[in-house]
Amino acid sequence: KRRELFRLKDQATYSKDKRKVELGCNIGTPRDVKMALKNGAEGIGLYRTEFLFMNRSNMPTEEEQFQAYKEVLEEMEGKPVIIRTLDIGGDKELPYLNLPKEANPFLGYRAIRISLNQPEIFKVQLRALLRSSLYGNLKIMYPMISSVEEVRAANEILEDVKRELKEKSIEYSNQIEIGIMIEIPAAAVIGDLLIKEVDFFSIGTNDLIQYSTAVDRLNEGVSYLYEPFHPAVLRLIKLIIDYAHADGKWVGMCGEMAGDLNIIPILLGLGLDEFSMNASAILPARKLIAELSYLEMKKLAEETLILSTSKEIRNFIAENLKK
Ligand code: PEP
Ligand code: MG
Repeated sequence: KRRELFRLKDQATYSKDKRKVELGCNIGTPRDVKMALKNGAEGIGLYRTEFLFMNRSNMPTEEEQFQAYKEVLEEMEGKPVIIRTLDIGGDKELPYLNLPKEANPFLGYRAIRISLNQPEIFKVQLRALLRSSLYGNLKIMYPMISSVEEVRAANEILEDVKRELKEKSIEYSNQIEIGIMIEIPAAAVIGDLLIKEVDFFSIGTNDLIQYSTAVDRLNEGVSYLYEPFHPAVLRLIKLIIDYAHADGKWVGMCGEMAGDLNIIPILLGLGLDEFSMNASAILPARKLIAELSYLEMKKLAEETLILSTSKEIRNFIAENLKK
């Protein structure tokens, strides 16, 4: 069984009726790239850079960041690598940043909000990213975007940094795609506006479920309400994908849902272009997708999206896939 799976390692990912999708891997450090490649990753769909900043007493320097990003890009040998800018705050602390104690950290000062408010930190990371771009296929992604203003502000800082590098004759690639995570319901709803500012979306379902259903993703007391199959979550995902496609752009997903074999059929049917997941989920996902017809899943997704409850949705999908 294992050997059969590993035969798929170096193959592209196609549905039975030849719709091509891409399976990426989520990583936290450059050391994770080996496992990603061993398991047939076609790219890195999410590099969570915050681990580079955590468990230490000061900021990583531009050089340290550059080395880490370069290492990942080189090891991926030209395959796409999506590096997410700092997503600290919420549940992830950085003592040396002296972040305020907040009553609702998940609704507070975090991620892109910190980057925009403390551009001296953001610029170091962007400089390191731009310099690393010469070593592979880099895409930069901003986390926790809630408005068009934030994307524009982030992109303006990126342009400033590019200008500064040019002045010093420091080179970088001019082919870097810029994307944003869609993990706040407000961003999903204005997806038609946001997509005009960027090259791609990646759906962060871990936070999108939390924010759309008002269920703390870490609170055991309400974990029974944390529901990927909530009709609202599926409808938001459809909205996001449709907005991106209407503008001719691609959409990925890097939340846990993307690697869930029970949900992948629906995501395929909704037209998701890229799925990024833990390394161990990649080959089973490739095998499953090869057995599915995109057109049949498209119909299944349409029928699923008019159901009333997550239980109905779960049962309906399971029954239809048994056939
Ligand atoms: C997400 O929110 O789905 C996501 C991928 O980001 P993180 O889990 O790092 O918040
Ligand atoms: Mg998130």
